[in-house]
Amino acid sequence: ERERFTMDQMSSRAVREAFNRLHEEKLLYRAERLINWCPRCSTALSDLEVDHQETKGELYKFAYPLADGSGEIVVATTRPETMLGDTAVAVHPDDPRYENFVGKKIRHPIVGREFPIIADAELVDPKFGTGAVKVTPAHSFEDFEAGKRNHLPLVNILNPDGTLNENAGPFRGQDRIKVRPALKARIAELGLQRGTEPHNYSIGHCQRCGSVVEPLLSKQWFVSMKPLAEPVVHAVEAGRIRFVPEVWQAEFFRWLHNIHDWCISRQLWWGHQIPAWYCENDHVTVARETPSKCATCGSTSLRQDPDVLDTWFSSGLWPFSTLGWPERTAALETFYPNSVMETGFDILFFWVARMAMLGLHLCGEVPFRTVFLHAMVRDEKGEKMSKTRGNVIDPLDVTDKHGADALRMTLASMAGQGRDIKLSTERIAGYRAFANKIWNAARFVLMNANGYDPDHPAQPASVYDRWILSRLSRLADETRAAMDDFRLSEAANGIYKFVWGELCDWAIELAKPALYDQLGAGAKASAQATLVRALEGALRLLHPFMPFVTEEVWQRLPKAKGHAPSIMIADYPRGKGYQVDPVAEREMDLVARAIEGARSVRGEVNLPPNQPVPIVLLPRDAGVQRTFRDHEPAFRKLANASRVTVLAPRAKRPANAAVHVEAEVEVHLPLRGLIDFGAEKVRVEKEIGKIEADLLGIEKRLGNPGFVARAPAEVVEKDRARAAELQAKRDKLARHLSRVASPEESMNEQSNGRNHDGEDEEQEQGHRGADQMGTHGGPAQGQPAGGSGAAPGGEEEDKPETSSHPGFSSEAEAEKEEGGGAGAASAEDEEEGIAAQAITRVKSIARGLMTKKEDADEEGGPQSEIEKLEEMAEIAPKIQKRAAKRKASKSTRGKTGKPDVRRKSVRGAKNKASKAGKVGARGKLGRQAAAKGAKKGTRGGAKKQKGRPVGKGDRRAATGRGPGSRGQGRTSAKGGRGKTGGKQRPSARRSAR
Ligand SMILES: [Zn+2]
Ligand SMILES: [Zn+2]
Repeated sequence: ERERFTMDQMSSRAVREAFNRLHEEKLLYRAERLINWCPRCSTALSDLEVDHQETKGELYKFAYPLADGSGEIVVATTRPETMLGDTAVAVHPDDPRYENFVGKKIRHPIVGREFPIIADAELVDPKFGTGAVKVTPAHSFEDFEAGKRNHLPLVNILNPDGTLNENAGPFRGQDRIKVRPALKARIAELGLQRGTEPHNYSIGHCQRCGSVVEPLLSKQWFVSMKPLAEPVVHAVEAGRIRFVPEVWQAEFFRWLHNIHDWCISRQLWWGHQIPAWYCENDHVTVARETPSKCATCGSTSLRQDPDVLDTWFSSGLWPFSTLGWPERTAALETFYPNSVMETGFDILFFWVARMAMLGLHLCGEVPFRTVFLHAMVRDEKGEKMSKTRGNVIDPLDVTDKHGADALRMTLASMAGQGRDIKLSTERIAGYRAFANKIWNAARFVLMNANGYDPDHPAQPASVYDRWILSRLSRLADETRAAMDDFRLSEAANGIYKFVWGELCDWAIELAKPALYDQLGAGAKASAQATLVRALEGALRLLHPFMPFVTEEVWQRLPKAKGHAPSIMIADYPRGKGYQVDPVAEREMDLVARAIEGARSVRGEVNLPPNQPVPIVLLPRDAGVQRTFRDHEPAFRKLANASRVTVLAPRAKRPANAAVHVEAEVEVHLPLRGLIDFGAEKVRVEKEIGKIEADLLGIEKRLGNPGFVARAPAEVVEKDRARAAELQAKRDKLARHLSRVASPEESMNEQSNGRNHDGEDEEQEQGHRGADQMGTHGGPAQGQPAGGSGAAPGGEEEDKPETSSHPGFSSEAEAEKEEGGGAGAASAEDEEEGIAAQAITRVKSIARGLMTKKEDADEEGGPQSEIEKLEEMAEIAPKIQKRAAKRKASKSTRGKTGKPDVRRKSVRGAKNKASKAGKVGARGKLGRQAAAKGAKKGTRGGAKKQKGRPVGKGDRRAATGRGPGSRGQGRTSAKGGRGKTGGKQRPSARRSAR
């Protein structure tokens, strides 16, 4: 209904109206002026349509003989052929060299014309060239001004097609560029050549065809810009228009302050014809309707100006011409001014500025309040897309192949402010997979929604149901906040992570037993209602980014009576529409970390994903024990546990088990009988050998300064990334090898050790407390999302933890883990495990990637292999370095043995306890640690929270890990990247690039 075309009737009418009004106000005029002329396109161009390029050329010097034969004056020029149009030579009035020349006449050696030597301080820089300047008023903007100042005649030597006209004498008819050698030859022949020197200068090219643009004297229509620009400057200063990103405001001002009159006539076929008519007496009649006679002499023989208007003239009227202007239509009243103008920064002046100027002038108000300038879309290497390079991604091809939703979501998710979008089809394909994911999730939810009554939905009963709705609540608020701030990529990525990483990967999986009637009618009703609500809410959040698939799926979902007929007009979700449940989030966080830990170990020992394995959980205390009893099915479902045993808090650890340690729980995977240790050892050793050979080659290359200096940065970067990747892989395998090589020994935790004062490390840590060190995971339960469960125990806690967590796999996180390890060394008997911890972090990332591949039922997400490697590369070297350092420090402490992941088992609890100084009934680990804590005279007592030995660091480390914590803050939305989030989602960091 509101579809408009710049050439339609409505626009035409607005164009004529605007032209006439501006003309009546003397803001639009016709004048003979120097304009930019493209000889190939045969049209005038505005300044903005001329691209200036730095060109290597020469400064050509030749002598003009004085008319009285008393001598010569040497001038320098980059364009000798323009001498045919010279009408003066100018010198600086204070230049003693030419004191006696001013006022004398020159006789043009080729065309015979006589012209003066003048003094002009503005035009001449005495230090440049010879200090004498030829003046060509008809073919240079500067000279045109000088000509006006000095009343010089204009001699046009060019035809519109770029050939020389009759004023060029013997060179008439030749092309202005090709004539140069002949002209120079002639000057030399006359004995007037005076040498050359190399010189770089800027030359204008036609934006359309690339031809050299000529300043040409021509009668054109102009809009007087200064009177239009000034009010816009004031409007922006007064805050009536704001720019996002803000940096563009300065650029906008810079242009407005230096604005020249706008040449609006074009000698093209296509466009709005200029509403001006000429009679045989050359009178001009400007009118809204085609006039019947000349307004001056009454002649009826009228001819309309054959020129058309610059397309940006009609585009500049767009915000109101489309609404019926000049009529005061209801649409105009309603929608003018509009709120947001969104476009690329490359047309900020062409379009945005002109809309602002014309809108403010003609309608009395700026046309929009916010100008949102989005990123430039480039190819995946960051290069500008161009037909000649062949790297253009045609949006129509892409939408044919992957769908409009996928493209739109890709662009939104990558549109971090102030950055270019490096678009790759791979990424778009990833978002097509996302659309499929939504479709499949919806199909599953609908298939299992029998009996669900949207008008009387069951309340969420299980912790899983409460958790996912709590997450949705947070997501809704975060998304709204991001949208309000134009952080579109954050909004899009947050929804993506929720849908894929939380709703699909966890909530739907965890709801299956309930949906399959295994837990009773109440549980089923709760799961049904929860999944439909969560999906429905997510669809509405996602709708602006993926309009088609969301509408299609939404229409099929059961909805309460009186719902909107389309998702397009349904309310955008708000957090308060769902119940925030910190208790459920904390519990899910713990469970998710334990499950991820089990998966992590599975990946490290190369257990095939379809190989069930028994899982033994050793909880810290009875509360944790009870919690895990409720979640056994989750381990079966999500960690492929063949059976789950929840031990009593102080029970004996299983033998021959690989273990993942969280502060609250140890996750043991007894592996004997599941992997052939001997064969695996051989295989791994072989693989390590191969990797080390590769690594050696790359390191050799990188160690060669010549290579690093000469090779393209891209290649070096790639090598570095590859090296880091190989290192990480090698270490991962080494860890694995140590496991399979001596399963008995290495799989039993060690807890002997001597006391060691870790204060130095702590100081080294700075703000980090020792209690957070070394836990692979760390308890989350100390801190409800709202922060109510924990009193601040130190400076660190002053920060709301919701915003303090940088994300699971971010570099910062890796460093944190790192630091954690170092601090943990203070708990002497855990020392050895520390280096392993860092490596485990890398491994767990690698493992996340592996698991991703293993999830064969889903298409890969947008995060490409390369990105993963990049990610590894970023994190691994740091970790390695520190791990090495740690190993060294370990040996100085006389600690024996290699770092062993399994040994960290004790550490988490111990550190915590050492900080808290209290363990009570928390088991052997706790007791050991308590002793240590006491010895240290720990500050932990003061820091303990609610009587539980949960340190700030533990919580911090935990935040953002599991699904439960993901939404606790903005940062976590970026990085929350446990198994769930990390899987198929594109890294926020990456997409921000
Ligand atoms: Zn051109
Ligand atoms: Zn007339």
